[in-house]
Amino acid sequence: MDTDVIVVGGGLAGLAATAELADAGRRVILLDQEPDASLGGQAYWSFGGLFLVDSPEQRRLGVRDSADLAWQDWLGSAGFDRDPGDVGGADHWALRWARAYVDFAAGEKRSWLHAMGVRWFPVVGWAERGGGLADGHGNSVPRFHVTWGTGPGLVEPFERRVREHAAAGRVDLRFRHRVDALTTTDGTVDGVRGAILE
Ligand SMILES: Cc1cc2nc3c(=O)[nH]c(=O)nc-3n(C[C@H](O)[C@H](O)[C@H](O)COP(=O)(O)OP(=O)(O)OC[C@H]3O[C@@H](n4cnc5c(N)ncnc54)[C@H](O)[C@@H]3O)c2cc1C
Repeated sequence: MDTDVIVVGGGLAGLAATAELADAGRRVILLDQEPDASLGGQAYWSFGGLFLVDSPEQRRLGVRDSADLAWQDWLGSAGFDRDPGDVGGADHWALRWARAYVDFAAGEKRSWLHAMGVRWFPVVGWAERGGGLADGHGNSVPRFHVTWGTGPGLVEPFERRVREHAAAGRVDLRFRHRVDALTTTDGTVDGVRGAILE
């Protein structure tokens, strides 16, 4: 089979990637080793507690949060201690990813999900609280926003988008397809190889 993009795994990460890629006009094959009923992966069984920064739910409770405070907390937990350097530096991509994720959580994450119909329980929890100090590990303020409907409520809009694209022929869903290797040509990953399970 040939396609623009192959997504390996239909958990929440794979569903989000597939939905966004198909929206952008790419043809996608989504592979998962599990059967159709398991689409959504761990997120389906999760509590659906989301990391959001400076949200209306926090402000309503009097929690003062900001991207800067969340970044300080992230650095306190991650403990990056290897040369970030240029692209080859040991912590380079971890730092870039972390900064992008904190900015996303303080920015468009909530409105992106809200536009898909996701809603949150109005009490913000304090998971991964850590040491409770602003310069140590963990969240120094409550940031755990429980999705209305918990995990299934979070998976539902992504699964709906992906299944709509599949019905329109833009996404090819292949279950019980286990990926065992990436294939490369001249050092560039250009495909996957695996087994079709019983
Ligand atoms: C009970 C529980 C509660 C949780 N609560 C929360 C919470 O409140 N808040 C929070 O932020 N996080 C929570 N988590 C963690 C969160 O659910 C996961 O981190 C997240 O869902 C992972 O999504 P993912 O798409 O990266 O991976 P996964 O959901 O693990 O999906 C990976 C997919 O890839 C497939 N796959 C794996 N290997 C292969 C292969 N070789 N070939 C083909 N397919 C393959 C798997 O079958 C699976 O469908 C919870 C997790 C659990 C289990």
